[in-house]
Amino acid sequence: MRVSYTLSMKTLIVLMAFFSLKSFASISGCNPSQNQLVMQAEKNVILRLSDLEREWPLMSLTQVKKDFVEMNDRVWVNGNQRHTDYSQYHQSMSAVFNKIGTSLSRQEISYQCESTSQKKCQEGAVIAYVLILFGRSFKTVHLCPSYFQSDLEAQSRTLMHEVSHAVANTEDLALDWWNGDKTDMSKAPLDAYHVEAFYNEPSAMILKRTFWNWIWPRKKP
Ligand SMILES: [Zn+2]
Repeated sequence: MRVSYTLSMKTLIVLMAFFSLKSFASISGCNPSQNQLVMQAEKNVILRLSDLEREWPLMSLTQVKKDFVEMNDRVWVNGNQRHTDYSQYHQSMSAVFNKIGTSLSRQEISYQCESTSQKKCQEGAVIAYVLILFGRSFKTVHLCPSYFQSDLEAQSRTLMHEVSHAVANTEDLALDWWNGDKTDMSKAPLDAYHVEAFYNEPSAMILKRTFWNWIWPRKKP
């Protein structure tokens, strides 16, 4: 979830000074057990991203040609524009994963637990959010009370979603770029819903479903 925020110039300058001085992760407004859960979720995301460092290069165009297209005797058309688009997508996703991993390991992300009275939590409808101002995201992930009602796996996935807003400027596109022949691969790295899927699904599974079956269809009998 991304929430637009308006501020006076004076508050803005004070806030910017504060955020530029701040280079350590912090958790505020959370009770000890929430603290523990936030740290565990963050650790889970860091672990998954270090797995992805090994997994993701295997998803490159040349590798997929060998491991998926040729292996399964799929249709490969030389010079297909979708090959170029896929390579660009693959590169952009590397950058997204990198930004998330780096910001987490450098402890650049802060967390704030919100109470039920926080209007932005919309009485339970919103799980977590990141504030944006003039198109730039703040590096604080706000956790609504409903965040803690899901299990740790879901919490970790949500964290990856929110951190992608905070550091990779993703939006809540909710896969609206994924639409048969109108699929726009260039939008996928900008979609927090696409990014979060990599938390608990193997890359090949997501990519097969989302792109591979579409770029390299089965041969007609
Ligand atoms: Zn979101």
